[in-house]
Amino acid sequence: MNNFKGKTIAVIGSGLIGRSWTMVFISAGYRVEIYDVQTGQATRAIEEISKQLKELQEGGMLRGSLSAQEQMSLISSQEDLKQTLEGAFFVQECVFEDLAAKQDIFHNLESHVGEDVILSSSTSCLLPTEVFLQVTHKKRCIVSHPVNPPYYVKLVELVPHPETDAAVMERTYSLMKEVGQSPVRLRREIDGFALNRIQYAVIAEAWRLVKDGVLSVADVDLVMSEGLGMRYAFIGPMETVHLNAEGLEQYMQRYGEGMKRVLSSFGPVPDFSGEAVKKINQEMCEQIPSDPQHLAARRERRDRFILGLAKLKKDQESK
Ligand code: NAD
Repeated sequence: MNNFKGKTIAVIGSGLIGRSWTMVFISAGYRVEIYDVQTGQATRAIEEISKQLKELQEGGMLRGSLSAQEQMSLISSQEDLKQTLEGAFFVQECVFEDLAAKQDIFHNLESHVGEDVILSSSTSCLLPTEVFLQVTHKKRCIVSHPVNPPYYVKLVELVPHPETDAAVMERTYSLMKEVGQSPVRLRREIDGFALNRIQYAVIAEAWRLVKDGVLSVADVDLVMSEGLGMRYAFIGPMETVHLNAEGLEQYMQRYGEGMKRVLSSFGPVPDFSGEAVKKINQEMCEQIPSDPQHLAARRERRDRFILGLAKLKKDQESK
Protein backbone atom coordinates (compact mmCIF):
# COMPACT_ATOMS: atom_id res chain seq x y z
CA MET A 1 0.00 0.00 0.00
CA ASN A 2 1.22 3.49 -0.83
CA ASN A 3 1.50 5.89 2.03
CA PHE A 4 1.18 9.16 0.17
CA LYS A 5 -1.74 10.76 2.08
CA GLY A 6 -1.24 14.50 2.44
CA LYS A 7 1.28 14.39 -0.37
CA THR A 8 0.97 16.31 -3.59
CA ILE A 9 -0.20 15.26 -7.02
CA ALA A 10 0.29 17.66 -9.94
CA VAL A 11 -2.55 17.82 -12.47
CA ILE A 12 -1.48 19.31 -15.79
CA GLY A 13 -4.39 20.67 -17.85
CA SER A 14 -7.63 21.65 -16.11
CA GLY A 15 -10.34 20.84 -18.64
CA LEU A 16 -13.03 18.23 -18.10
CA ILE A 17 -10.66 15.39 -17.18
CA GLY A 18 -8.16 17.49 -15.20
CA ARG A 19 -11.04 18.73 -13.03
CA SER A 20 -12.38 15.20 -12.57
CA TRP A 21 -9.00 13.77 -11.56
CA THR A 22 -8.55 16.63 -9.11
CA MET A 23 -11.91 15.81 -7.48
CA VAL A 24 -11.00 12.13 -7.23
CA PHE A 25 -7.56 12.81 -5.69
CA ILE A 26 -8.74 15.39 -3.11
CA SER A 27 -11.61 13.12 -2.08
CA ALA A 28 -8.95 10.78 -0.70
CA GLY A 29 -6.98 13.53 1.05
CA TYR A 30 -4.23 14.22 -1.49
CA ARG A 31 -3.13 17.76 -2.15
CA VAL A 32 -3.45 18.76 -5.80
CA GLU A 33 -1.54 21.47 -7.63
CA ILE A 34 -3.19 22.39 -10.92
CA TYR A 35 -1.42 23.92 -13.89
CA ASP A 36 -3.01 25.03 -17.16
CA VAL A 37 -1.28 26.76 -20.05
CA GLN A 38 -4.33 29.03 -20.62
CA THR A 39 -4.16 32.00 -18.26
CA GLY A 40 -7.07 31.99 -15.80
CA GLN A 41 -8.25 28.48 -16.77
CA ALA A 42 -6.95 26.78 -13.59
CA THR A 43 -8.72 29.38 -11.42
CA ARG A 44 -11.95 28.81 -13.33
CA ALA A 45 -11.48 25.07 -12.90
CA ILE A 46 -11.16 25.48 -9.12
CA GLU A 47 -14.37 27.56 -9.04
CA GLU A 48 -16.18 24.89 -11.05
CA ILE A 49 -14.88 22.14 -8.72
CA SER A 50 -16.07 24.12 -5.68
CA LYS A 51 -19.56 24.38 -7.20
CA GLN A 52 -19.65 20.69 -8.03
CA LEU A 53 -18.43 19.58 -4.59
CA LYS A 54 -21.15 21.64 -2.90
CA GLU A 55 -23.81 20.04 -5.12
CA LEU A 56 -22.39 16.57 -4.47
CA GLN A 57 -22.38 17.21 -0.73
CA GLU A 58 -26.00 18.40 -0.81
CA GLY A 59 -26.98 15.33 -2.85
CA GLY A 60 -25.16 12.96 -0.46
CA MET A 61 -22.82 11.87 -3.26
CA LEU A 62 -19.57 13.46 -2.10
CA ARG A 63 -16.76 10.92 -2.15
CA GLY A 64 -14.44 10.32 0.81
CA SER A 65 -14.70 11.25 4.46
CA LEU A 66 -13.73 14.95 4.16
CA SER A 67 -16.30 17.74 3.77
CA ALA A 68 -16.49 19.74 0.54
CA GLN A 69 -14.76 22.63 2.29
CA GLU A 70 -11.96 20.39 3.62
CA GLN A 71 -11.45 18.94 0.15
CA MET A 72 -11.34 22.42 -1.41
CA SER A 73 -8.56 23.42 1.01
CA LEU A 74 -6.36 20.75 -0.63
CA ILE A 75 -6.36 22.37 -4.10
CA SER A 76 -4.23 25.20 -5.39
CA SER A 77 -3.07 26.38 -8.78
CA GLN A 78 0.15 27.82 -10.10
CA GLU A 79 0.91 29.92 -13.16
CA ASP A 80 4.35 28.34 -13.30
CA LEU A 81 4.91 24.71 -14.31
CA LYS A 82 8.11 24.29 -12.29
CA GLN A 83 6.39 25.51 -9.10
CA THR A 84 3.42 23.24 -9.75
CA LEU A 85 5.70 20.22 -9.80
CA GLU A 86 7.63 21.05 -6.63
CA GLY A 87 7.07 18.27 -4.10
CA ALA A 88 4.75 16.25 -6.37
CA PHE A 89 5.25 12.46 -6.27
CA PHE A 90 2.78 11.82 -9.11
CA VAL A 91 1.93 13.87 -12.20
CA GLN A 92 -1.36 13.32 -14.03
CA GLU A 93 -1.29 14.90 -17.49
CA CYS A 94 -4.70 15.98 -18.89
CA VAL A 95 -3.92 18.20 -21.89
CA PHE A 96 -5.61 18.05 -25.31
CA GLU A 97 -5.50 14.74 -27.16
CA ASP A 98 -2.73 15.92 -29.47
CA LEU A 99 0.38 13.78 -29.85
CA ALA A 100 2.84 16.63 -30.42
CA ALA A 101 1.45 18.55 -27.41
CA LYS A 102 1.73 15.49 -25.18
CA GLN A 103 5.27 14.64 -26.34
CA ASP A 104 6.28 18.21 -25.71
CA ILE A 105 4.72 18.44 -22.25
CA PHE A 106 6.30 15.15 -21.07
CA HIS A 107 9.70 16.25 -22.33
CA ASN A 108 9.22 19.46 -20.39
CA LEU A 109 7.85 17.73 -17.26
CA GLU A 110 10.83 15.41 -17.08
CA SER A 111 13.24 18.31 -16.84
CA HIS A 112 11.53 19.59 -13.64
CA VAL A 113 11.05 16.40 -11.59
CA GLY A 114 13.24 13.73 -9.98
CA GLU A 115 13.56 10.26 -11.50
CA ASP A 116 11.26 8.66 -8.92
CA VAL A 117 8.26 10.87 -9.83
CA ILE A 118 5.64 8.96 -11.80
CA LEU A 119 4.57 10.59 -15.07
CA SER A 120 1.05 9.51 -15.96
CA SER A 121 -1.01 10.41 -19.04
CA SER A 122 -4.81 10.49 -19.37
CA THR A 123 -4.64 9.83 -23.12
CA SER A 124 -7.69 8.06 -24.53
CA CYS A 125 -6.10 6.48 -27.56
CA LEU A 126 -2.44 7.38 -28.01
CA LEU A 127 0.00 4.58 -27.31
CA PRO A 128 2.58 4.99 -24.50
CA THR A 129 5.44 4.42 -26.99
CA GLU A 130 4.20 7.50 -28.88
CA VAL A 131 3.26 9.71 -25.92
CA PHE A 132 6.53 9.16 -24.01
CA LEU A 133 8.82 9.15 -27.07
CA GLN A 134 10.80 12.15 -25.89
CA VAL A 135 11.15 11.11 -22.24
CA THR A 136 14.64 9.86 -21.35
CA HIS A 137 13.68 7.76 -18.30
CA LYS A 138 10.63 5.94 -19.62
CA LYS A 139 10.61 3.48 -16.73
CA ARG A 140 8.53 5.99 -14.67
CA CYS A 141 5.93 6.59 -17.40
CA ILE A 142 2.46 5.09 -17.57
CA VAL A 143 -0.93 5.77 -19.14
CA SER A 144 -3.82 6.03 -16.63
CA HIS A 145 -6.85 6.26 -18.89
CA PRO A 146 -10.05 7.26 -17.06
CA VAL A 147 -13.63 6.91 -18.26
CA ASN A 148 -15.86 9.97 -18.33
CA PRO A 149 -17.12 10.95 -15.75
CA PRO A 150 -14.40 9.38 -13.52
CA TYR A 151 -16.17 10.52 -10.37
CA TYR A 152 -18.90 7.92 -11.02
CA VAL A 153 -17.40 5.60 -13.61
CA LYS A 154 -14.43 4.22 -11.76
CA LEU A 155 -12.52 2.20 -14.34
CA VAL A 156 -8.95 3.31 -15.03
CA GLU A 157 -6.93 1.50 -17.68
CA LEU A 158 -3.25 1.36 -16.70
CA VAL A 159 -1.14 0.89 -19.82
CA PRO A 160 2.64 0.49 -19.58
CA HIS A 161 5.31 1.67 -21.99
CA PRO A 162 7.54 -1.35 -22.86
CA GLU A 163 10.15 0.16 -20.51
CA THR A 164 7.79 0.97 -17.61
CA ASP A 165 9.13 -0.38 -14.35
CA ALA A 166 6.89 -3.04 -12.75
CA ALA A 167 7.05 -1.05 -9.48
CA VAL A 168 5.63 2.02 -11.25
CA MET A 169 2.66 -0.03 -12.46
CA GLU A 170 2.14 -1.34 -8.90
CA ARG A 171 2.46 2.07 -7.24
CA THR A 172 -0.01 3.58 -9.72
CA TYR A 173 -2.36 0.64 -9.20
CA SER A 174 -2.27 1.12 -5.39
CA LEU A 175 -2.79 4.86 -5.74
CA MET A 176 -5.84 4.34 -7.97
CA LYS A 177 -7.31 1.78 -5.56
CA GLU A 178 -6.65 4.08 -2.64
CA VAL A 179 -8.51 6.99 -4.24
CA GLY A 180 -11.47 4.71 -4.89
CA GLN A 181 -11.07 4.01 -8.63
CA SER A 182 -11.13 0.54 -10.20
CA PRO A 183 -7.82 0.14 -12.03
CA VAL A 184 -7.05 -2.63 -14.52
CA ARG A 185 -3.50 -3.49 -15.58
CA LEU A 186 -2.84 -4.07 -19.28
CA ARG A 187 0.26 -6.26 -19.55
CA ARG A 188 1.33 -4.51 -22.75
CA GLU A 189 0.20 -1.59 -24.86
CA ILE A 190 -2.37 -2.30 -27.54
CA ASP A 191 -4.27 0.01 -29.88
CA GLY A 192 -7.59 1.06 -28.30
CA PHE A 193 -6.50 -0.31 -24.90
CA ALA A 194 -9.23 -2.66 -23.54
CA LEU A 195 -12.34 -0.53 -23.12
CA ASN A 196 -12.43 0.83 -26.65
CA ARG A 197 -11.56 -2.53 -28.22
CA ILE A 198 -14.59 -4.05 -26.50
CA GLN A 199 -16.76 -0.99 -27.11
CA TYR A 200 -15.88 -0.89 -30.81
CA ALA A 201 -16.75 -4.58 -31.20
CA VAL A 202 -20.22 -3.80 -29.79
CA ILE A 203 -20.68 -0.68 -31.94
CA ALA A 204 -19.58 -2.56 -35.08
CA GLU A 205 -22.13 -5.36 -34.67
CA ALA A 206 -24.90 -2.93 -33.67
CA TRP A 207 -24.07 -0.96 -36.83
CA ARG A 208 -24.19 -4.05 -39.06
CA LEU A 209 -27.53 -5.17 -37.59
CA VAL A 210 -29.08 -1.75 -38.32
CA LYS A 211 -27.41 -1.31 -41.71
CA ASP A 212 -28.52 -4.78 -42.84
CA GLY A 213 -32.11 -4.00 -41.83
CA VAL A 214 -32.31 -6.59 -39.04
CA LEU A 215 -33.12 -4.12 -36.24
CA SER A 216 -34.12 -0.48 -35.91
CA VAL A 217 -31.77 1.99 -34.20
CA ALA A 218 -34.12 2.13 -31.20
CA ASP A 219 -34.30 -1.64 -30.87
CA VAL A 220 -30.55 -2.24 -31.15
CA ASP A 221 -30.06 0.23 -28.29
CA LEU A 222 -32.70 -1.62 -26.26
CA VAL A 223 -30.77 -4.88 -26.71
CA MET A 224 -28.02 -3.24 -24.69
CA SER A 225 -29.94 -1.09 -22.20
CA GLU A 226 -32.64 -3.66 -21.34
CA GLY A 227 -30.63 -6.81 -22.02
CA LEU A 228 -26.87 -7.09 -21.84
CA GLY A 229 -26.43 -3.84 -19.93
CA MET A 230 -28.49 -5.12 -16.99
CA ARG A 231 -25.78 -7.68 -16.28
CA TYR A 232 -22.78 -5.75 -17.42
CA ALA A 233 -23.19 -2.98 -14.84
CA PHE A 234 -22.35 -5.65 -12.25
CA ILE A 235 -20.55 -8.58 -13.87
CA GLY A 236 -18.40 -8.89 -16.97
CA PRO A 237 -18.56 -11.29 -19.94
CA MET A 238 -16.29 -13.88 -18.32
CA GLU A 239 -18.38 -14.16 -15.16
CA THR A 240 -21.55 -14.12 -17.28
CA VAL A 241 -20.30 -17.19 -19.13
CA HIS A 242 -19.20 -18.88 -15.91
CA LEU A 243 -22.60 -18.40 -14.27
CA ASN A 244 -24.70 -19.29 -17.33
CA ALA A 245 -23.61 -22.95 -17.12
CA GLU A 246 -21.90 -25.04 -14.47
CA GLY A 247 -18.73 -23.05 -15.02
CA LEU A 248 -16.90 -21.54 -17.98
CA GLU A 249 -15.61 -24.86 -19.32
CA GLN A 250 -19.08 -26.38 -19.47
CA TYR A 251 -20.45 -23.20 -21.10
CA MET A 252 -17.88 -23.53 -23.86
CA GLN A 253 -18.64 -27.24 -24.33
CA ARG A 254 -22.32 -26.39 -24.69
CA TYR A 255 -22.23 -23.12 -26.56
CA GLY A 256 -18.70 -22.77 -28.01
CA GLU A 257 -19.60 -24.20 -31.45
CA GLY A 258 -22.72 -22.00 -31.66
CA MET A 259 -20.67 -18.95 -30.75
CA LYS A 260 -18.12 -19.75 -33.46
CA ARG A 261 -20.90 -20.22 -36.03
CA VAL A 262 -22.51 -16.85 -35.16
CA LEU A 263 -19.17 -15.05 -34.96
CA SER A 264 -18.14 -16.35 -38.38
CA SER A 265 -21.32 -14.81 -39.84
CA PHE A 266 -20.25 -11.29 -38.78
CA GLY A 267 -19.57 -9.01 -41.73
CA PRO A 268 -16.34 -7.09 -42.35
CA VAL A 269 -15.40 -3.97 -40.39
CA PRO A 270 -17.99 -1.32 -41.37
CA ASP A 271 -16.61 1.82 -43.03
CA PHE A 272 -18.93 4.13 -41.03
CA SER A 273 -19.31 6.53 -43.96
CA GLY A 274 -21.40 7.36 -47.02
CA GLU A 275 -25.11 6.52 -47.38
CA ALA A 276 -25.18 4.24 -44.33
CA VAL A 277 -24.19 7.07 -41.97
CA LYS A 278 -26.82 9.39 -43.47
CA LYS A 279 -29.56 6.78 -43.16
CA ILE A 280 -28.68 5.63 -39.64
CA ASN A 281 -28.19 9.22 -38.47
CA GLN A 282 -31.62 10.17 -39.82
CA GLU A 283 -33.23 7.30 -37.93
CA MET A 284 -31.35 8.26 -34.75
CA CYS A 285 -32.37 11.93 -35.10
CA GLU A 286 -36.04 10.97 -35.39
CA GLN A 287 -35.73 9.85 -31.77
CA ILE A 288 -33.22 12.43 -30.52
CA PRO A 289 -32.71 15.44 -32.77
CA SER A 290 -29.04 16.42 -32.90
CA ASP A 291 -29.51 20.10 -32.02
CA PRO A 292 -27.65 21.31 -28.90
CA GLN A 293 -30.80 21.54 -26.75
CA HIS A 294 -31.99 18.01 -27.34
CA LEU A 295 -28.49 16.59 -26.93
CA ALA A 296 -27.94 18.53 -23.70
CA ALA A 297 -31.23 17.23 -22.29
CA ARG A 298 -30.31 13.63 -23.11
CA ARG A 299 -26.80 14.08 -21.66
CA GLU A 300 -28.34 15.42 -18.47
CA ARG A 301 -30.66 12.36 -18.39
CA ARG A 302 -27.70 10.01 -19.04
CA ASP A 303 -25.64 11.58 -16.25
CA ARG A 304 -28.59 11.40 -13.83
CA PHE A 305 -28.99 7.70 -14.63
CA ILE A 306 -25.25 7.05 -14.21
CA LEU A 307 -25.34 8.82 -10.85
CA GLY A 308 -28.30 6.65 -9.77
CA LEU A 309 -26.48 3.54 -10.91
CA ALA A 310 -23.33 4.60 -9.06
CA LYS A 311 -25.45 4.94 -5.89
CA LEU A 312 -27.02 1.53 -6.46
CA LYS A 313 -23.62 -0.11 -7.04
CA LYS A 314 -22.28 1.47 -3.86
CA ASP A 315 -25.26 0.11 -1.90
CA GLN A 316 -25.07 -3.37 -3.43
CA GLU A 317 -21.32 -3.67 -2.97
CA SER A 318 -21.49 -2.63 0.68
CA LYS A 319 -23.99 -5.43 1.48
P1 NAD B 1 -10.18 19.57 -22.46
O1 NAD B 1 -10.12 20.16 -23.82
O2 NAD B 1 -11.46 19.69 -21.68
O3 NAD B 1 -9.02 20.19 -21.55
C1 NAD B 1 -7.66 20.27 -21.94
C2 NAD B 1 -7.01 21.33 -21.07
O4 NAD B 1 -5.58 21.24 -21.25
C3 NAD B 1 -7.41 22.78 -21.42
O5 NAD B 1 -7.82 23.46 -20.25
C4 NAD B 1 -6.12 23.39 -21.98
O6 NAD B 1 -5.98 24.77 -21.72
C5 NAD B 1 -5.06 22.56 -21.27
N1 NAD B 1 -3.76 22.52 -21.95
C6 NAD B 1 -3.51 22.36 -23.27
N2 NAD B 1 -2.18 22.30 -23.49
C7 NAD B 1 -1.58 22.42 -22.28
C8 NAD B 1 -0.24 22.42 -21.83
N3 NAD B 1 0.76 22.31 -22.68
N4 NAD B 1 0.00 22.55 -20.51
C9 NAD B 1 -1.02 22.68 -19.62
N5 NAD B 1 -2.30 22.69 -19.98
C10 NAD B 1 -2.59 22.55 -21.29
O7 NAD B 1 -9.76 18.04 -22.63
P2 NAD B 1 -10.26 16.80 -21.74
O8 NAD B 1 -11.55 16.29 -22.28
O9 NAD B 1 -10.13 17.14 -20.32
O10 NAD B 1 -9.15 15.70 -22.15
C11 NAD B 1 -7.87 15.68 -21.56
C12 NAD B 1 -7.22 14.34 -21.83
O11 NAD B 1 -8.03 13.31 -21.21
C13 NAD B 1 -7.11 13.96 -23.30
O12 NAD B 1 -5.93 13.25 -23.52
C14 NAD B 1 -8.31 13.04 -23.51
O13 NAD B 1 -8.12 12.12 -24.57
C15 NAD B 1 -8.34 12.32 -22.17
N6 NAD B 1 -9.66 11.74 -21.85
C16 NAD B 1 -10.80 12.45 -22.12
C17 NAD B 1 -12.04 11.88 -21.82
C18 NAD B 1 -13.32 12.64 -22.10
O14 NAD B 1 -14.38 12.02 -22.14
N7 NAD B 1 -13.28 13.96 -22.26
C19 NAD B 1 -12.10 10.60 -21.24
C20 NAD B 1 -10.91 9.92 -20.95
C21 NAD B 1 -9.69 10.51 -21.27
